[in-house]
Amino acid sequence: MAGNIAILGSTGSIGVQTLEVARNLGISVSALTANSNIDLIEKQAKEFKPQLISVGDSTLAFELNQRLKKMNIEVHYGLEGLKAAASIAAADTVVTSIVGVAGLIPTIEAIRHGKNIALANKETLVTAGSIVVSEAAAHGISIFPVDSEHAAIYQCLAANRRQDVERLILTASGGPFRGKTPEELEKVTVAQALKHPNWNMGSKITIDSATLMNKGLEVIEARWLFDFTPDRIKVVVHPQSIIHSMVEYVDGSVIAQLGSHDMRIPIQLALTWPDRVLNSFSRLDLLKCGSLTFEEPDMESFPCLALAFEALKADGTMPAVMNGANEAAVELFLKGKIGFCDIPRLISRAMQVHSVNIKPGLDDIIEVDGWARKMVGGLL
Ligand code: NAD
Ligand code: MG
Repeated sequence: MAGNIAILGSTGSIGVQTLEVARNLGISVSALTANSNIDLIEKQAKEFKPQLISVGDSTLAFELNQRLKKMNIEVHYGLEGLKAAASIAAADTVVTSIVGVAGLIPTIEAIRHGKNIALANKETLVTAGSIVVSEAAAHGISIFPVDSEHAAIYQCLAANRRQDVERLILTASGGPFRGKTPEELEKVTVAQALKHPNWNMGSKITIDSATLMNKGLEVIEARWLFDFTPDRIKVVVHPQSIIHSMVEYVDGSVIAQLGSHDMRIPIQLALTWPDRVLNSFSRLDLLKCGSLTFEEPDMESFPCLALAFEALKADGTMPAVMNGANEAAVELFLKGKIGFCDIPRLISRAMQVHSVNIKPGLDDIIEVDGWARKMVGGLL
């Protein structure tokens, strides 16, 4: 069980719930980071008394330093601050709950300092899976997924032989627009896209869930976490989100993990595995959850899922291009500058123009990420 954690992105949806878990379990917190919400990180710092906190820029750091004057807390900022939080000596585990590719360099920094990773930031594995997995192996650390589907698969694989696995089955809720035609999707609004039927999450992942890009990112995440080729990873739409994912074995047995819609459950498991600890989180009541249904994903209405499989097949820098283009397109959609169906269009265009570097280093990944963002922004 984790004894002391650093949380990258402590003011977000996962970050706040991680602090709740830490409070319940009595886990110490040595570092916290936030991009801009200094009111919340101030409150968190006063309760958890970390050694170090980091924020987005020097102005915010100066303001926070004034507010926390009487406390013995180092206040850092920017990428150097994130790296300092990720490598803080006191922490044995780093929870990566930053959103987007901004989480990549700090996660690598944590791995290089021998920290176990409780990984929420899926974009790290999407953009640089091969590098992250080999760094983790070289430093003998474990990466435990916080994402509910991957936490489910982790549990379904435990105590079984991996050579007996036929395939991984990732479940997807289908998002708020399940059943809509491509024509209907042209007219959906930002407010409608932000209303996820089952989960309450940050805005970027909520839009990704509406386009099904989130499931695409999760397929790539699963590829690197569990080392299965894409043809052995299947996606099934399961609107109730009660089964969090499954593993099918060669003898026809399918092992599933079920639970209520409560991210604190996989967050806690990432910090206690292989132990299970009693908590007061919501329980699954099978008699109240009704029918469980399953459908094929609709790749025509939701091309982002197909684009992710395509990027995974192309390998090398292509998933980073897809991810960078997606982050830029989602930002434009959230600002009301493009329509919902422009998201896959822009990603597809960036992927078509890109010529893949099959064995990229970290610098190449960062470079193509920037290139894809410019491409989507119309700056190239
Ligand atoms: P969020 O938007 O609620 O929080 C993001 C956090 O990252 C905040 O603390 C913010 O300050 C910080 N941040 C944002 N941009 C940053 C930047 N450029 N540099 C440094 N810090 C930055 O997001 P979330 O919903 O908590 O998701 C976090 C990650 O976890 C994402 O990768 C998401 O895909 C993954 N995830 C989330 C959920 C969920 O239920 N929310 C479930 C599974 C996986
Ligand atoms: Mg998920």
